[in-house]
Amino acid sequence: MLVMKFGGTSVGSGERVAGVAELVEARLAEEPFVVVSAMGGVTDALLDLSRAAREGDREAASAALRTLGEKHHAAVEALDLGPAAEAAARGEIEREVARLDGLATGVALLGELSARTADAVCAAGELLSAALVSAALAKRGVAVARVDPREWMATDASHGAATPDEAALAANVARRLLPERAAGRVVVTGGFVGAAPDGATTTLGRGGSDYSAALLGAALEECGARVASIEIWTDVDGILTADPRVVPAARIVPEVGYAEAAELAFFGAKVLHPATIRPAVSRGVPVRVRNTLRPDAPGTTVRSEAPGTGVRALAMRPGVAALFVGSPRMLLAHGYAARVFSVFERHAVPVDVIATSEVSISVTVDERAPLEALVRDLSAFAEVSVLTDLAVVSVVGRRLRSTPRVAANVFAALGEVNVVLISQGASETNLTFVVGAEDAPEALRRLHRALFEKEAA
Ligand code: ASP
Ligand code: MG
Repeated sequence: MLVMKFGGTSVGSGERVAGVAELVEARLAEEPFVVVSAMGGVTDALLDLSRAAREGDREAASAALRTLGEKHHAAVEALDLGPAAEAAARGEIEREVARLDGLATGVALLGELSARTADAVCAAGELLSAALVSAALAKRGVAVARVDPREWMATDASHGAATPDEAALAANVARRLLPERAAGRVVVTGGFVGAAPDGATTTLGRGGSDYSAALLGAALEECGARVASIEIWTDVDGILTADPRVVPAARIVPEVGYAEAAELAFFGAKVLHPATIRPAVSRGVPVRVRNTLRPDAPGTTVRSEAPGTGVRALAMRPGVAALFVGSPRMLLAHGYAARVFSVFERHAVPVDVIATSEVSISVTVDERAPLEALVRDLSAFAEVSVLTDLAVVSVVGRRLRSTPRVAANVFAALGEVNVVLISQGASETNLTFVVGAEDAPEALRRLHRALFEKEAA
């Protein structure tokens, strides 16, 4: 079996929805389950609608509703479903718009928007896109079972960011989804949306459809089915060796380990949020990122461990400050580090890169941290200096510590780029150092040339 999840851009218009149906039809032999996001921009529009209603701005609310209806009607138009299917789809859009109108009226009257009501509003996006994708598949003659996500995605009642109940949802998948598959139908369902134990609509938090897809894949495995992979269809080619805006020569990383993907995401590679795919990866189900606009491109596969060792990708995060905390007695006394870190703890500031020497501890923090307060408190027992306008550069890969010459190659490649701080060997998945923000792009390009472009030449 196969889980295919399509993001907002991939279902962003009638033409795109038709393209999705074509992609799914080509994979019927692999027994796909289809999970969809709302059409691009729709969840934002639904949130705008709720806010407008809460503020009593009936005009803005009805404008938002109108736009929403038109967007889905335009998709139906483009899908050219034939009279009966078109009437059914339009009827469904109208019912959903009427339901939202009712909710918005209630919110406007009360002047109050509960998280529970916000979820009931936001769910509309995925419910409608699932209707469109089902209709497009049916038009191609594919046997479809559209299943309301609330019938299987069991969650707790924390509205806005509900926690899935994996045991309960696996039982639902066995009871509700697998029989559809056994009957030869392609299950199409909305991501992001779930149901609390009392049946109320919940959502998993922004970007939650990837999480839905991973949970579905994990639940299918739990039920004894074999899931070959979970495909996350989006509008990028996958994870790249570096940010292509900084390094034009960046190329696709075909396979990457979970820890490496997490590291890259921490540095802002926004392809996947690793936490959302953990349920699948931890069960050994690979997650493959693919581009709907270039379906022939291989994409990036994330596995718990990817084969190969050495450097896989580069990442950089600007907006960093470094604090150099020296002991006035020149040698670090027993308990000194604990004292230093307790200051960061007290101000709830996460520290990032840490380097120590015999006489000082250097740490980096987000530039927006309360630097003055940190310096004041640290100065009570230490000599402190601060550097701002820095960037953290991270070389990410597998078994970096045990791969020969990684550090030597990295620092040779940097040449005269001035390195402010190095944290080496703390982890097998990254080698991290700090440079001036203005030097970071050049550092990245040099590293990329040395570590990725040479072998290709
Ligand atoms: N539609 C939801 C959002 O925009 C969920 C998703 O797309 O994953 O956050
Ligand atoms: Mg998304």
